[in-house]
Amino acid sequence: MTVETPIKTAPAPATASVPGNEFDTSEFDAAVMGTYGRFPIALERGEGCLVWDTEGREYLDFVAGIATCTLGHAHPALVETVSRQIKTLHHVSNLYYIPEQGNLAKWLVENSCADRAFFCNSGAEANEGAIKLARKYAHTVLDIEEPVILTAQASFHGRTLATITATGQPKYQKNFDPLVPGFYYVPFNDIEAIRSAIAELDGGGKRRVGAIMLEALQGEGGVRPGDADYFQELRSLCDSKGILLILDEVQVGLGRTGKLWGYENLGIEPDIFTSAKGLAGGIPIGALLCKSFCDVFKPGDHASTFGGNPFASAAALTVCQTLEQENLLANVRERGEQLRTGLRAIAAKYESLFSEVRGWGLINGLVLREDVELNSIDLVKAAMSEGLLLVPAGPKVLRFVPPLIVSAEEVDRALSLIERAIVKSAS
Ligand SMILES: *Cc1c(COP(=O)(O)O)cnc(C)c1O
Repeated sequence: MTVETPIKTAPAPATASVPGNEFDTSEFDAAVMGTYGRFPIALERGEGCLVWDTEGREYLDFVAGIATCTLGHAHPALVETVSRQIKTLHHVSNLYYIPEQGNLAKWLVENSCADRAFFCNSGAEANEGAIKLARKYAHTVLDIEEPVILTAQASFHGRTLATITATGQPKYQKNFDPLVPGFYYVPFNDIEAIRSAIAELDGGGKRRVGAIMLEALQGEGGVRPGDADYFQELRSLCDSKGILLILDEVQVGLGRTGKLWGYENLGIEPDIFTSAKGLAGGIPIGALLCKSFCDVFKPGDHASTFGGNPFASAAALTVCQTLEQENLLANVRERGEQLRTGLRAIAAKYESLFSEVRGWGLINGLVLREDVELNSIDLVKAAMSEGLLLVPAGPKVLRFVPPLIVSAEEVDRALSLIERAIVKSAS
């Protein structure tokens, strides 16, 4: 593996900052709420899988806005679509028909197990919609007075009140109680735990399980792939009891796993699923999709001012069509295999540090041993110094989620850079 010089000077960007004129983080921090632990760089330009900061430093972007910039940065097809759409019509109310939204919905239902789509603006909002839909179905079809939704420990479903409640990680809920009632947590990939939760909750009272909401692969929770046997057993269990199966595809949907949808890796179909992050390649959008039998929403039940506006819908449709035209699913599978092979070699070479590599397609985790002092954040910082952007998935997992257009050369380069960061951090 060759280790090349990672840092090049950016070709003069159109909006070049004044040389030596550093970005003022203190002014930023004085005006913006401190909800994020930010790294002390400001990115100002991107092209493909590369981004440049305000000092002209180049980085290979294996974060992609956290699994969001599907087509990388400044992709010509997306640039063309959003430029055209902003000049034509960018927003109108859902009081009227929006052809771009209809075209996007048509593409999504033709290319998934779902029959209908509802559009909103984020993953959390899509999951809120899924929770509302499942509750209405439970009340009106299953005749459950107090429906319960089972979710998994170590899951992540968003930051609104209902979705932090659905999220099975206490750190996201702390100090935000009272939480939303009607959720119950089970360990992931454990069918017996589901069976006993259902037995415990369905005791003949008002309370009963109406839905189960899971990720096909837990992203934030540590890049943990779902087990196909588990999901298949779960599917039959749901079918036999009339329970809805909801999949949160916000991080893994739209090609990230090498299949269009995460559930395709598991050999099952959900009744309801959600999409957001990568759907419009970085333009804000969320989608709630369902089969027709559980589409119980009526006019007035649910809405979103921005949801599915012409701008976001046209952007998303372009991302979907580009995925097809550029045969990106094949690229995701090949580059994913290449990345995992390289990461496994690194994990083996530094086996005192790493326990395993896991993931599907282009969502992969390099897992640190629990007993090593090093945390994923330390490696993220070290990689950044080498010119590679990465994001943790919990304290011990280093997450690799590059744009789906990443090249073989860029994967090799990322592998060299991460190895260099590991060597420096471990010494
Ligand atoms: C990021 C994420 C969300 C939340 O999406 P937002 O757009 O930040 O609201 C929900 N579920 C999963 C699986 C995610 O990865």
